[in-house]
Parts: sequence; structure tokens; C-alpha cells
Amino acid sequence: MKRTSWLVVACAALLVAAGAAAEDVAGLPLHVQKLDPTAVRVWIGDHISSTATVAIATGKGIVVVDTLGNPRIDAQLRKVIARELGRSDFAMLIITHEHGDHTGGNAVYADCPIVGHELVAAGMAAQGGDREEVLAWHDRRVGEIKAELAKEPAGSPKAARMKEELALDRVGREALTSDAKKVPPTKTFADRLTLDMGDTTFELTYIGGMHSASDIAVLVPEHGLLLTGDTMADRWLTDTPGCLASFMARGGVQHDFPLWLDNWGRLLARKDQIKRLVPGHWNGELSIQGAEARVSYVRTLWDGISEAVAAGKSMDEVMVAYRLETRFPELAKSPGFSERNNFMTVSELWSVITKQESAAGKLYELIAQGAGEEAIRQVVAERGAKQPKYYFLEVELNAQAYRFLQEEKVKEATALFRVNVELFPASWNVYDSLGEALLKAGDVPGAVGMYEKSVELNPNNQNGKDALARIRTAPHATT
Ligand SMILES: [Zn+2]
Repeated sequence: MKRTSWLVVACAALLVAAGAAAEDVAGLPLHVQKLDPTAVRVWIGDHISSTATVAIATGKGIVVVDTLGNPRIDAQLRKVIARELGRSDFAMLIITHEHGDHTGGNAVYADCPIVGHELVAAGMAAQGGDREEVLAWHDRRVGEIKAELAKEPAGSPKAARMKEELALDRVGREALTSDAKKVPPTKTFADRLTLDMGDTTFELTYIGGMHSASDIAVLVPEHGLLLTGDTMADRWLTDTPGCLASFMARGGVQHDFPLWLDNWGRLLARKDQIKRLVPGHWNGELSIQGAEARVSYVRTLWDGISEAVAAGKSMDEVMVAYRLETRFPELAKSPGFSERNNFMTVSELWSVITKQESAAGKLYELIAQGAGEEAIRQVVAERGAKQPKYYFLEVELNAQAYRFLQEEKVKEATALFRVNVELFPASWNVYDSLGEALLKAGDVPGAVGMYEKSVELNPNNQNGKDALARIRTAPHATT
């Protein structure tokens, strides 16, 4: 008992000490972590998943890895790094990948060579889109957070997180409205690059794929550090892991899985030289075992799906064989994994191996562009082809149609749900979804027909039964 209360007092004293020393950057608490006597990691925020910048003092100057993504914040962090390392001879910035929350502060280091993979520049250019649209999205998002915050009890962890999000959004908006230019790397490489910084070596290895097309890992053998960017994490320190939230093959990212496996294999073969893996955001951690398990997962999928395709197995069979819960039960609850993420990865692997495109993606694109019925028919006709150009997945088609619904494009959503009903007429779920879209479109009799069909196929479809009950009890119900 006595011991416990002493501990409580000690912890309280520590908290007070930390509070007294707390320093703010752009209204967010600053954190400085000493990785070793000549290496620091800095970030801001206690809740939001911000990027953590690593800085290492070398014989040829300070080498910084990644920015926090905002010139105003990064300018201040640069001063903090100089203070912590007791010098200001910044010599180089290395970027782990193209995403804005790592490259957005590059301008602050424009006086140094900026090193990154050769695909970073294209990735940076593709981000952002129309400034007016981004700003409108930004302001909507801020409005949503403010409304949510108003409902939260003051002082709750969620409220604290939302306050941090708002603070970051404020400086984010400033950066968006300023004329700050994107600064791409000035020195690039394709596979591997070794940088000799006198007493310290930086071994850059291309990873490529899964998180982004331009991912690299940075091995610093003299410090026993492997900086892994946003590629993976096996422990989350907060419940909002942000960029580290999903370990999956993302749509739109080019994938060379054998190369990815080879690159990770080379890195992990050096594990005796690695004392610590350092992810690109402060609120995730990665162990060697965690990295090995993830690489082994991708290897199992690549080998297994390649064999299945060679044996003439269907995509549906592959999906069943590689469900997360049954095939990888040890990973099912591990950070970054979910049935959905696994599904995305399996689809992407299937697509790469068979060279078949996603019909759902193609149809979404066609309908969004207002393509006519003939173009849609051409895609649908591939279903029965000997060597189909597309693969067809009911859940994926449904997900793309829901994407239209979220974008308030009800007509487009209805068109895509209809294609799904045509392709998968035995599925109760597709009728239920089409019913939902028709209801939104104001076609009540149409919606009733779809919900009835869905409940007929699956009498346990509670959502369908509830929808029918709601329609029938609604004022002015005519059906
Ligand atoms: Zn990222």
C-alpha cells in the first residue's frame, strides 16, 4: 500500500515536470526522443498521428529523415533539432516516401540535397488535386470536427484528439493557401543508394508497393537503426494510428511483389545489425518479428495465389482459401490487418498475377465519366470470356457503388448496383443495396421490389425487413 502511494506521488511529480518543460509548436505539444547520443526523433501532438522526424549528427553534418509535412512546423522543428544536437550544419534530407505528411516540409531543407526514390516526384505531383476543391474539403472536415467536438465531454481523450486535429488543420490550411511550392527530391535512385556521411552510412533500399510506390527503408548500421517510413507497424500506441493503420496493397499503387519480397528479404537478412526499427509516425512501433510476419504473409499469398492461378482456380476460390480469419489466424488481430485489408491485398495480387483489371474499378470510372450503355456492356460481357480482361467481385462492385452514394451521386450508384444485380442475381445483398439506392432516388415501388426480393432470398436479412417496415409505416405510404 505504502509502495503504491509512493509510486503515484512519483508519477505525479514526473507529470508535473513534463508539463513544466512542455513546449508548443503551432499550439501542439512538442516531443523530443533521444534515440542515442547523436540521434533524435521529434514530433508534435499527444493524440494525432503526426510524422516523426529523425535527425542524426554525422561527420559531414546533420542528416534529417522526413518532414512533418508543414513548412511552418518544420521550420520550428529544424530549430529544435539544431538545439538538441548542439549544431546547425544541416547536410541532407532523406524522404521515406511521396506522401504529403512526409514531403510537405521539404522547402525548409531546400538548402540541402533532398534524397528520395525516383518515383517520389511523380507521387507528389499526383497528390493534392484542385486547390479550391481541397480547400472546400478541408473546411467541411473542420466543420465536422467542430460539430463533433461540441458534443464531446470537455477533457475526454477524444476531445483532446479533435482539438489537436483542429490545430493541425489550421496550419494545414495556411500551407494550402500560401504559394509554397512542392519541393521534390534533388537526388534520386532506383534500387539502392549508399550515402557516406563520414562516420555514418545511410543505406537506402527501395521497398516499393503496399503503402506507396516510392517507399524506401533507411538503414544506419553505425546506429543500429532501420527507418521504415509508413510501410508497417505491429504495435499502435494510440487508437488512431493514421498512416500506419493498414497493411495492405492499396489500389492505385503499382505493385511488383517479387521485388518487394526480395527487398524486404535483403533488409531483414541484416537483422543482426538492427537494434531498433523506427516507423515514420510516432504512434506506431515495429519489431523484427512483426516485420518478418508481414513479409511472410505476403510471400504466402504471392506463392499460393500464383499456384492457384496456374491450376485454373477461380478468384472466388482464392478469396475463400485466403481469408484472414482462417488462413492467417495469428495475424487477424495484429495491427494493420483486417478482413477488408486482406481482401484488398488478395484482389491486388490476383490482378497482378492474372493481369486482369478490376471490373468494379473500370465500371466506376465509366459511369463517373457518363459513358453510355454500350461501354458498360463491353465490360460486363468479359465475365464469360475465355481470357477475361476483368475480374468481377460482388463486394467490390458494391463498394464502388456505395462510393457513388457517399458522393451523393445517386443516379450513378443505382446504375452500378443494377449491374451488380445482373451479375450476381443469386445474392440477397445486391438487391438490398439496390433497394437502398432506389429509395434515395425516390423510387419507392422500385425499392420495395428489391427489398422484397432480398428478403425472399435471405429471410434473415433484418436490414431489408426493417427497411420494408419503415416504408410501409411511413406517412403517405402507397405500397
Ligand atoms: Zn504515408
